[in-house]
Amino acid sequence: MREASLGQYRTAGRRIVNGLSVDVEEYFQVGAFENTIDPADWDGIGSRVELNTGAVLDLFARCGVKATFFTLGWVAHRHPALIRRIIAEGHEIASHGWDHTRVFTMTPQEFATDIDRARKALEDAGGVAIQGYRAPSFSIDQRTPWAHTILAERGYAYSSSVAPIAHDHYGWRAAPRFAFHPVEGSSLIELPVTTVQLGARRFGAGGGGFFRILPYALSRWALRRVNAVDGEPAIFYFHPWEVDPDQPRVEGAPLRSRLRHYTGLGGMAGRLEQLTRDFSWCRIDEIALPLAAGRR
Ligand SMILES: [Zn+2]
Repeated sequence: MREASLGQYRTAGRRIVNGLSVDVEEYFQVGAFENTIDPADWDGIGSRVELNTGAVLDLFARCGVKATFFTLGWVAHRHPALIRRIIAEGHEIASHGWDHTRVFTMTPQEFATDIDRARKALEDAGGVAIQGYRAPSFSIDQRTPWAHTILAERGYAYSSSVAPIAHDHYGWRAAPRFAFHPVEGSSLIELPVTTVQLGARRFGAGGGGFFRILPYALSRWALRRVNAVDGEPAIFYFHPWEVDPDQPRVEGAPLRSRLRHYTGLGGMAGRLEQLTRDFSWCRIDEIALPLAAGRR
């Protein structure tokens, strides 16, 4: 995949620092199982989020990287020690909403209530101010023109909630691929998840199945292309359950959901370590705050 020409970009250009993020939720709170597991039953299912996020923190410490942990208020309320550990180890805590309800299924008032409740739980647990928000399943799109306005009104510095792509579960194809101000007159920054553009086609390249299931070399090529050709930092994400091959299997979910959820779990930690060697990484606020302040 044209590795040679990419070498030329690397020596010619500055080294771009990319944004690394983790969406902290239980393995059973994902969209893939939303029709199989009732949220009313969540408290009866054995929690693995503290164990899995701990493994991610250990990996980050080993590799010497800092990241942003977009965490559910539901998780923070039940695992405050985990929130304190994330902060103590130099990472950013940001909001992933209360219970993974996707934004386009809520009214503006429900959305405001959801993010306020999550922020309070995160701030109570961590004792630091929350500045960033990521919508569950990148669910801010053309159906929710009010969502960024509500985030801006509440003083968030940034959002990373848009997937500028057409996907079967999410996506806002018409959105910009890189940082933009979604609300006129506000400094709020939106940092969309990374995509790669090939002619008229656009692919999600910032994590998910693309990273975990397809060959690692494809992700490396895509992220290098974003740095070298677009000249922009990548915004990358994954979940704690993706490094947990021993998680209990959810029965009764559609085959497509099961394939997408369970493939590649065993190789994920090794891929992440390789990713930290191949690229430079930082917390999302380190990219967003200078942009919000107009310094880039
Ligand atoms: Zn999520």
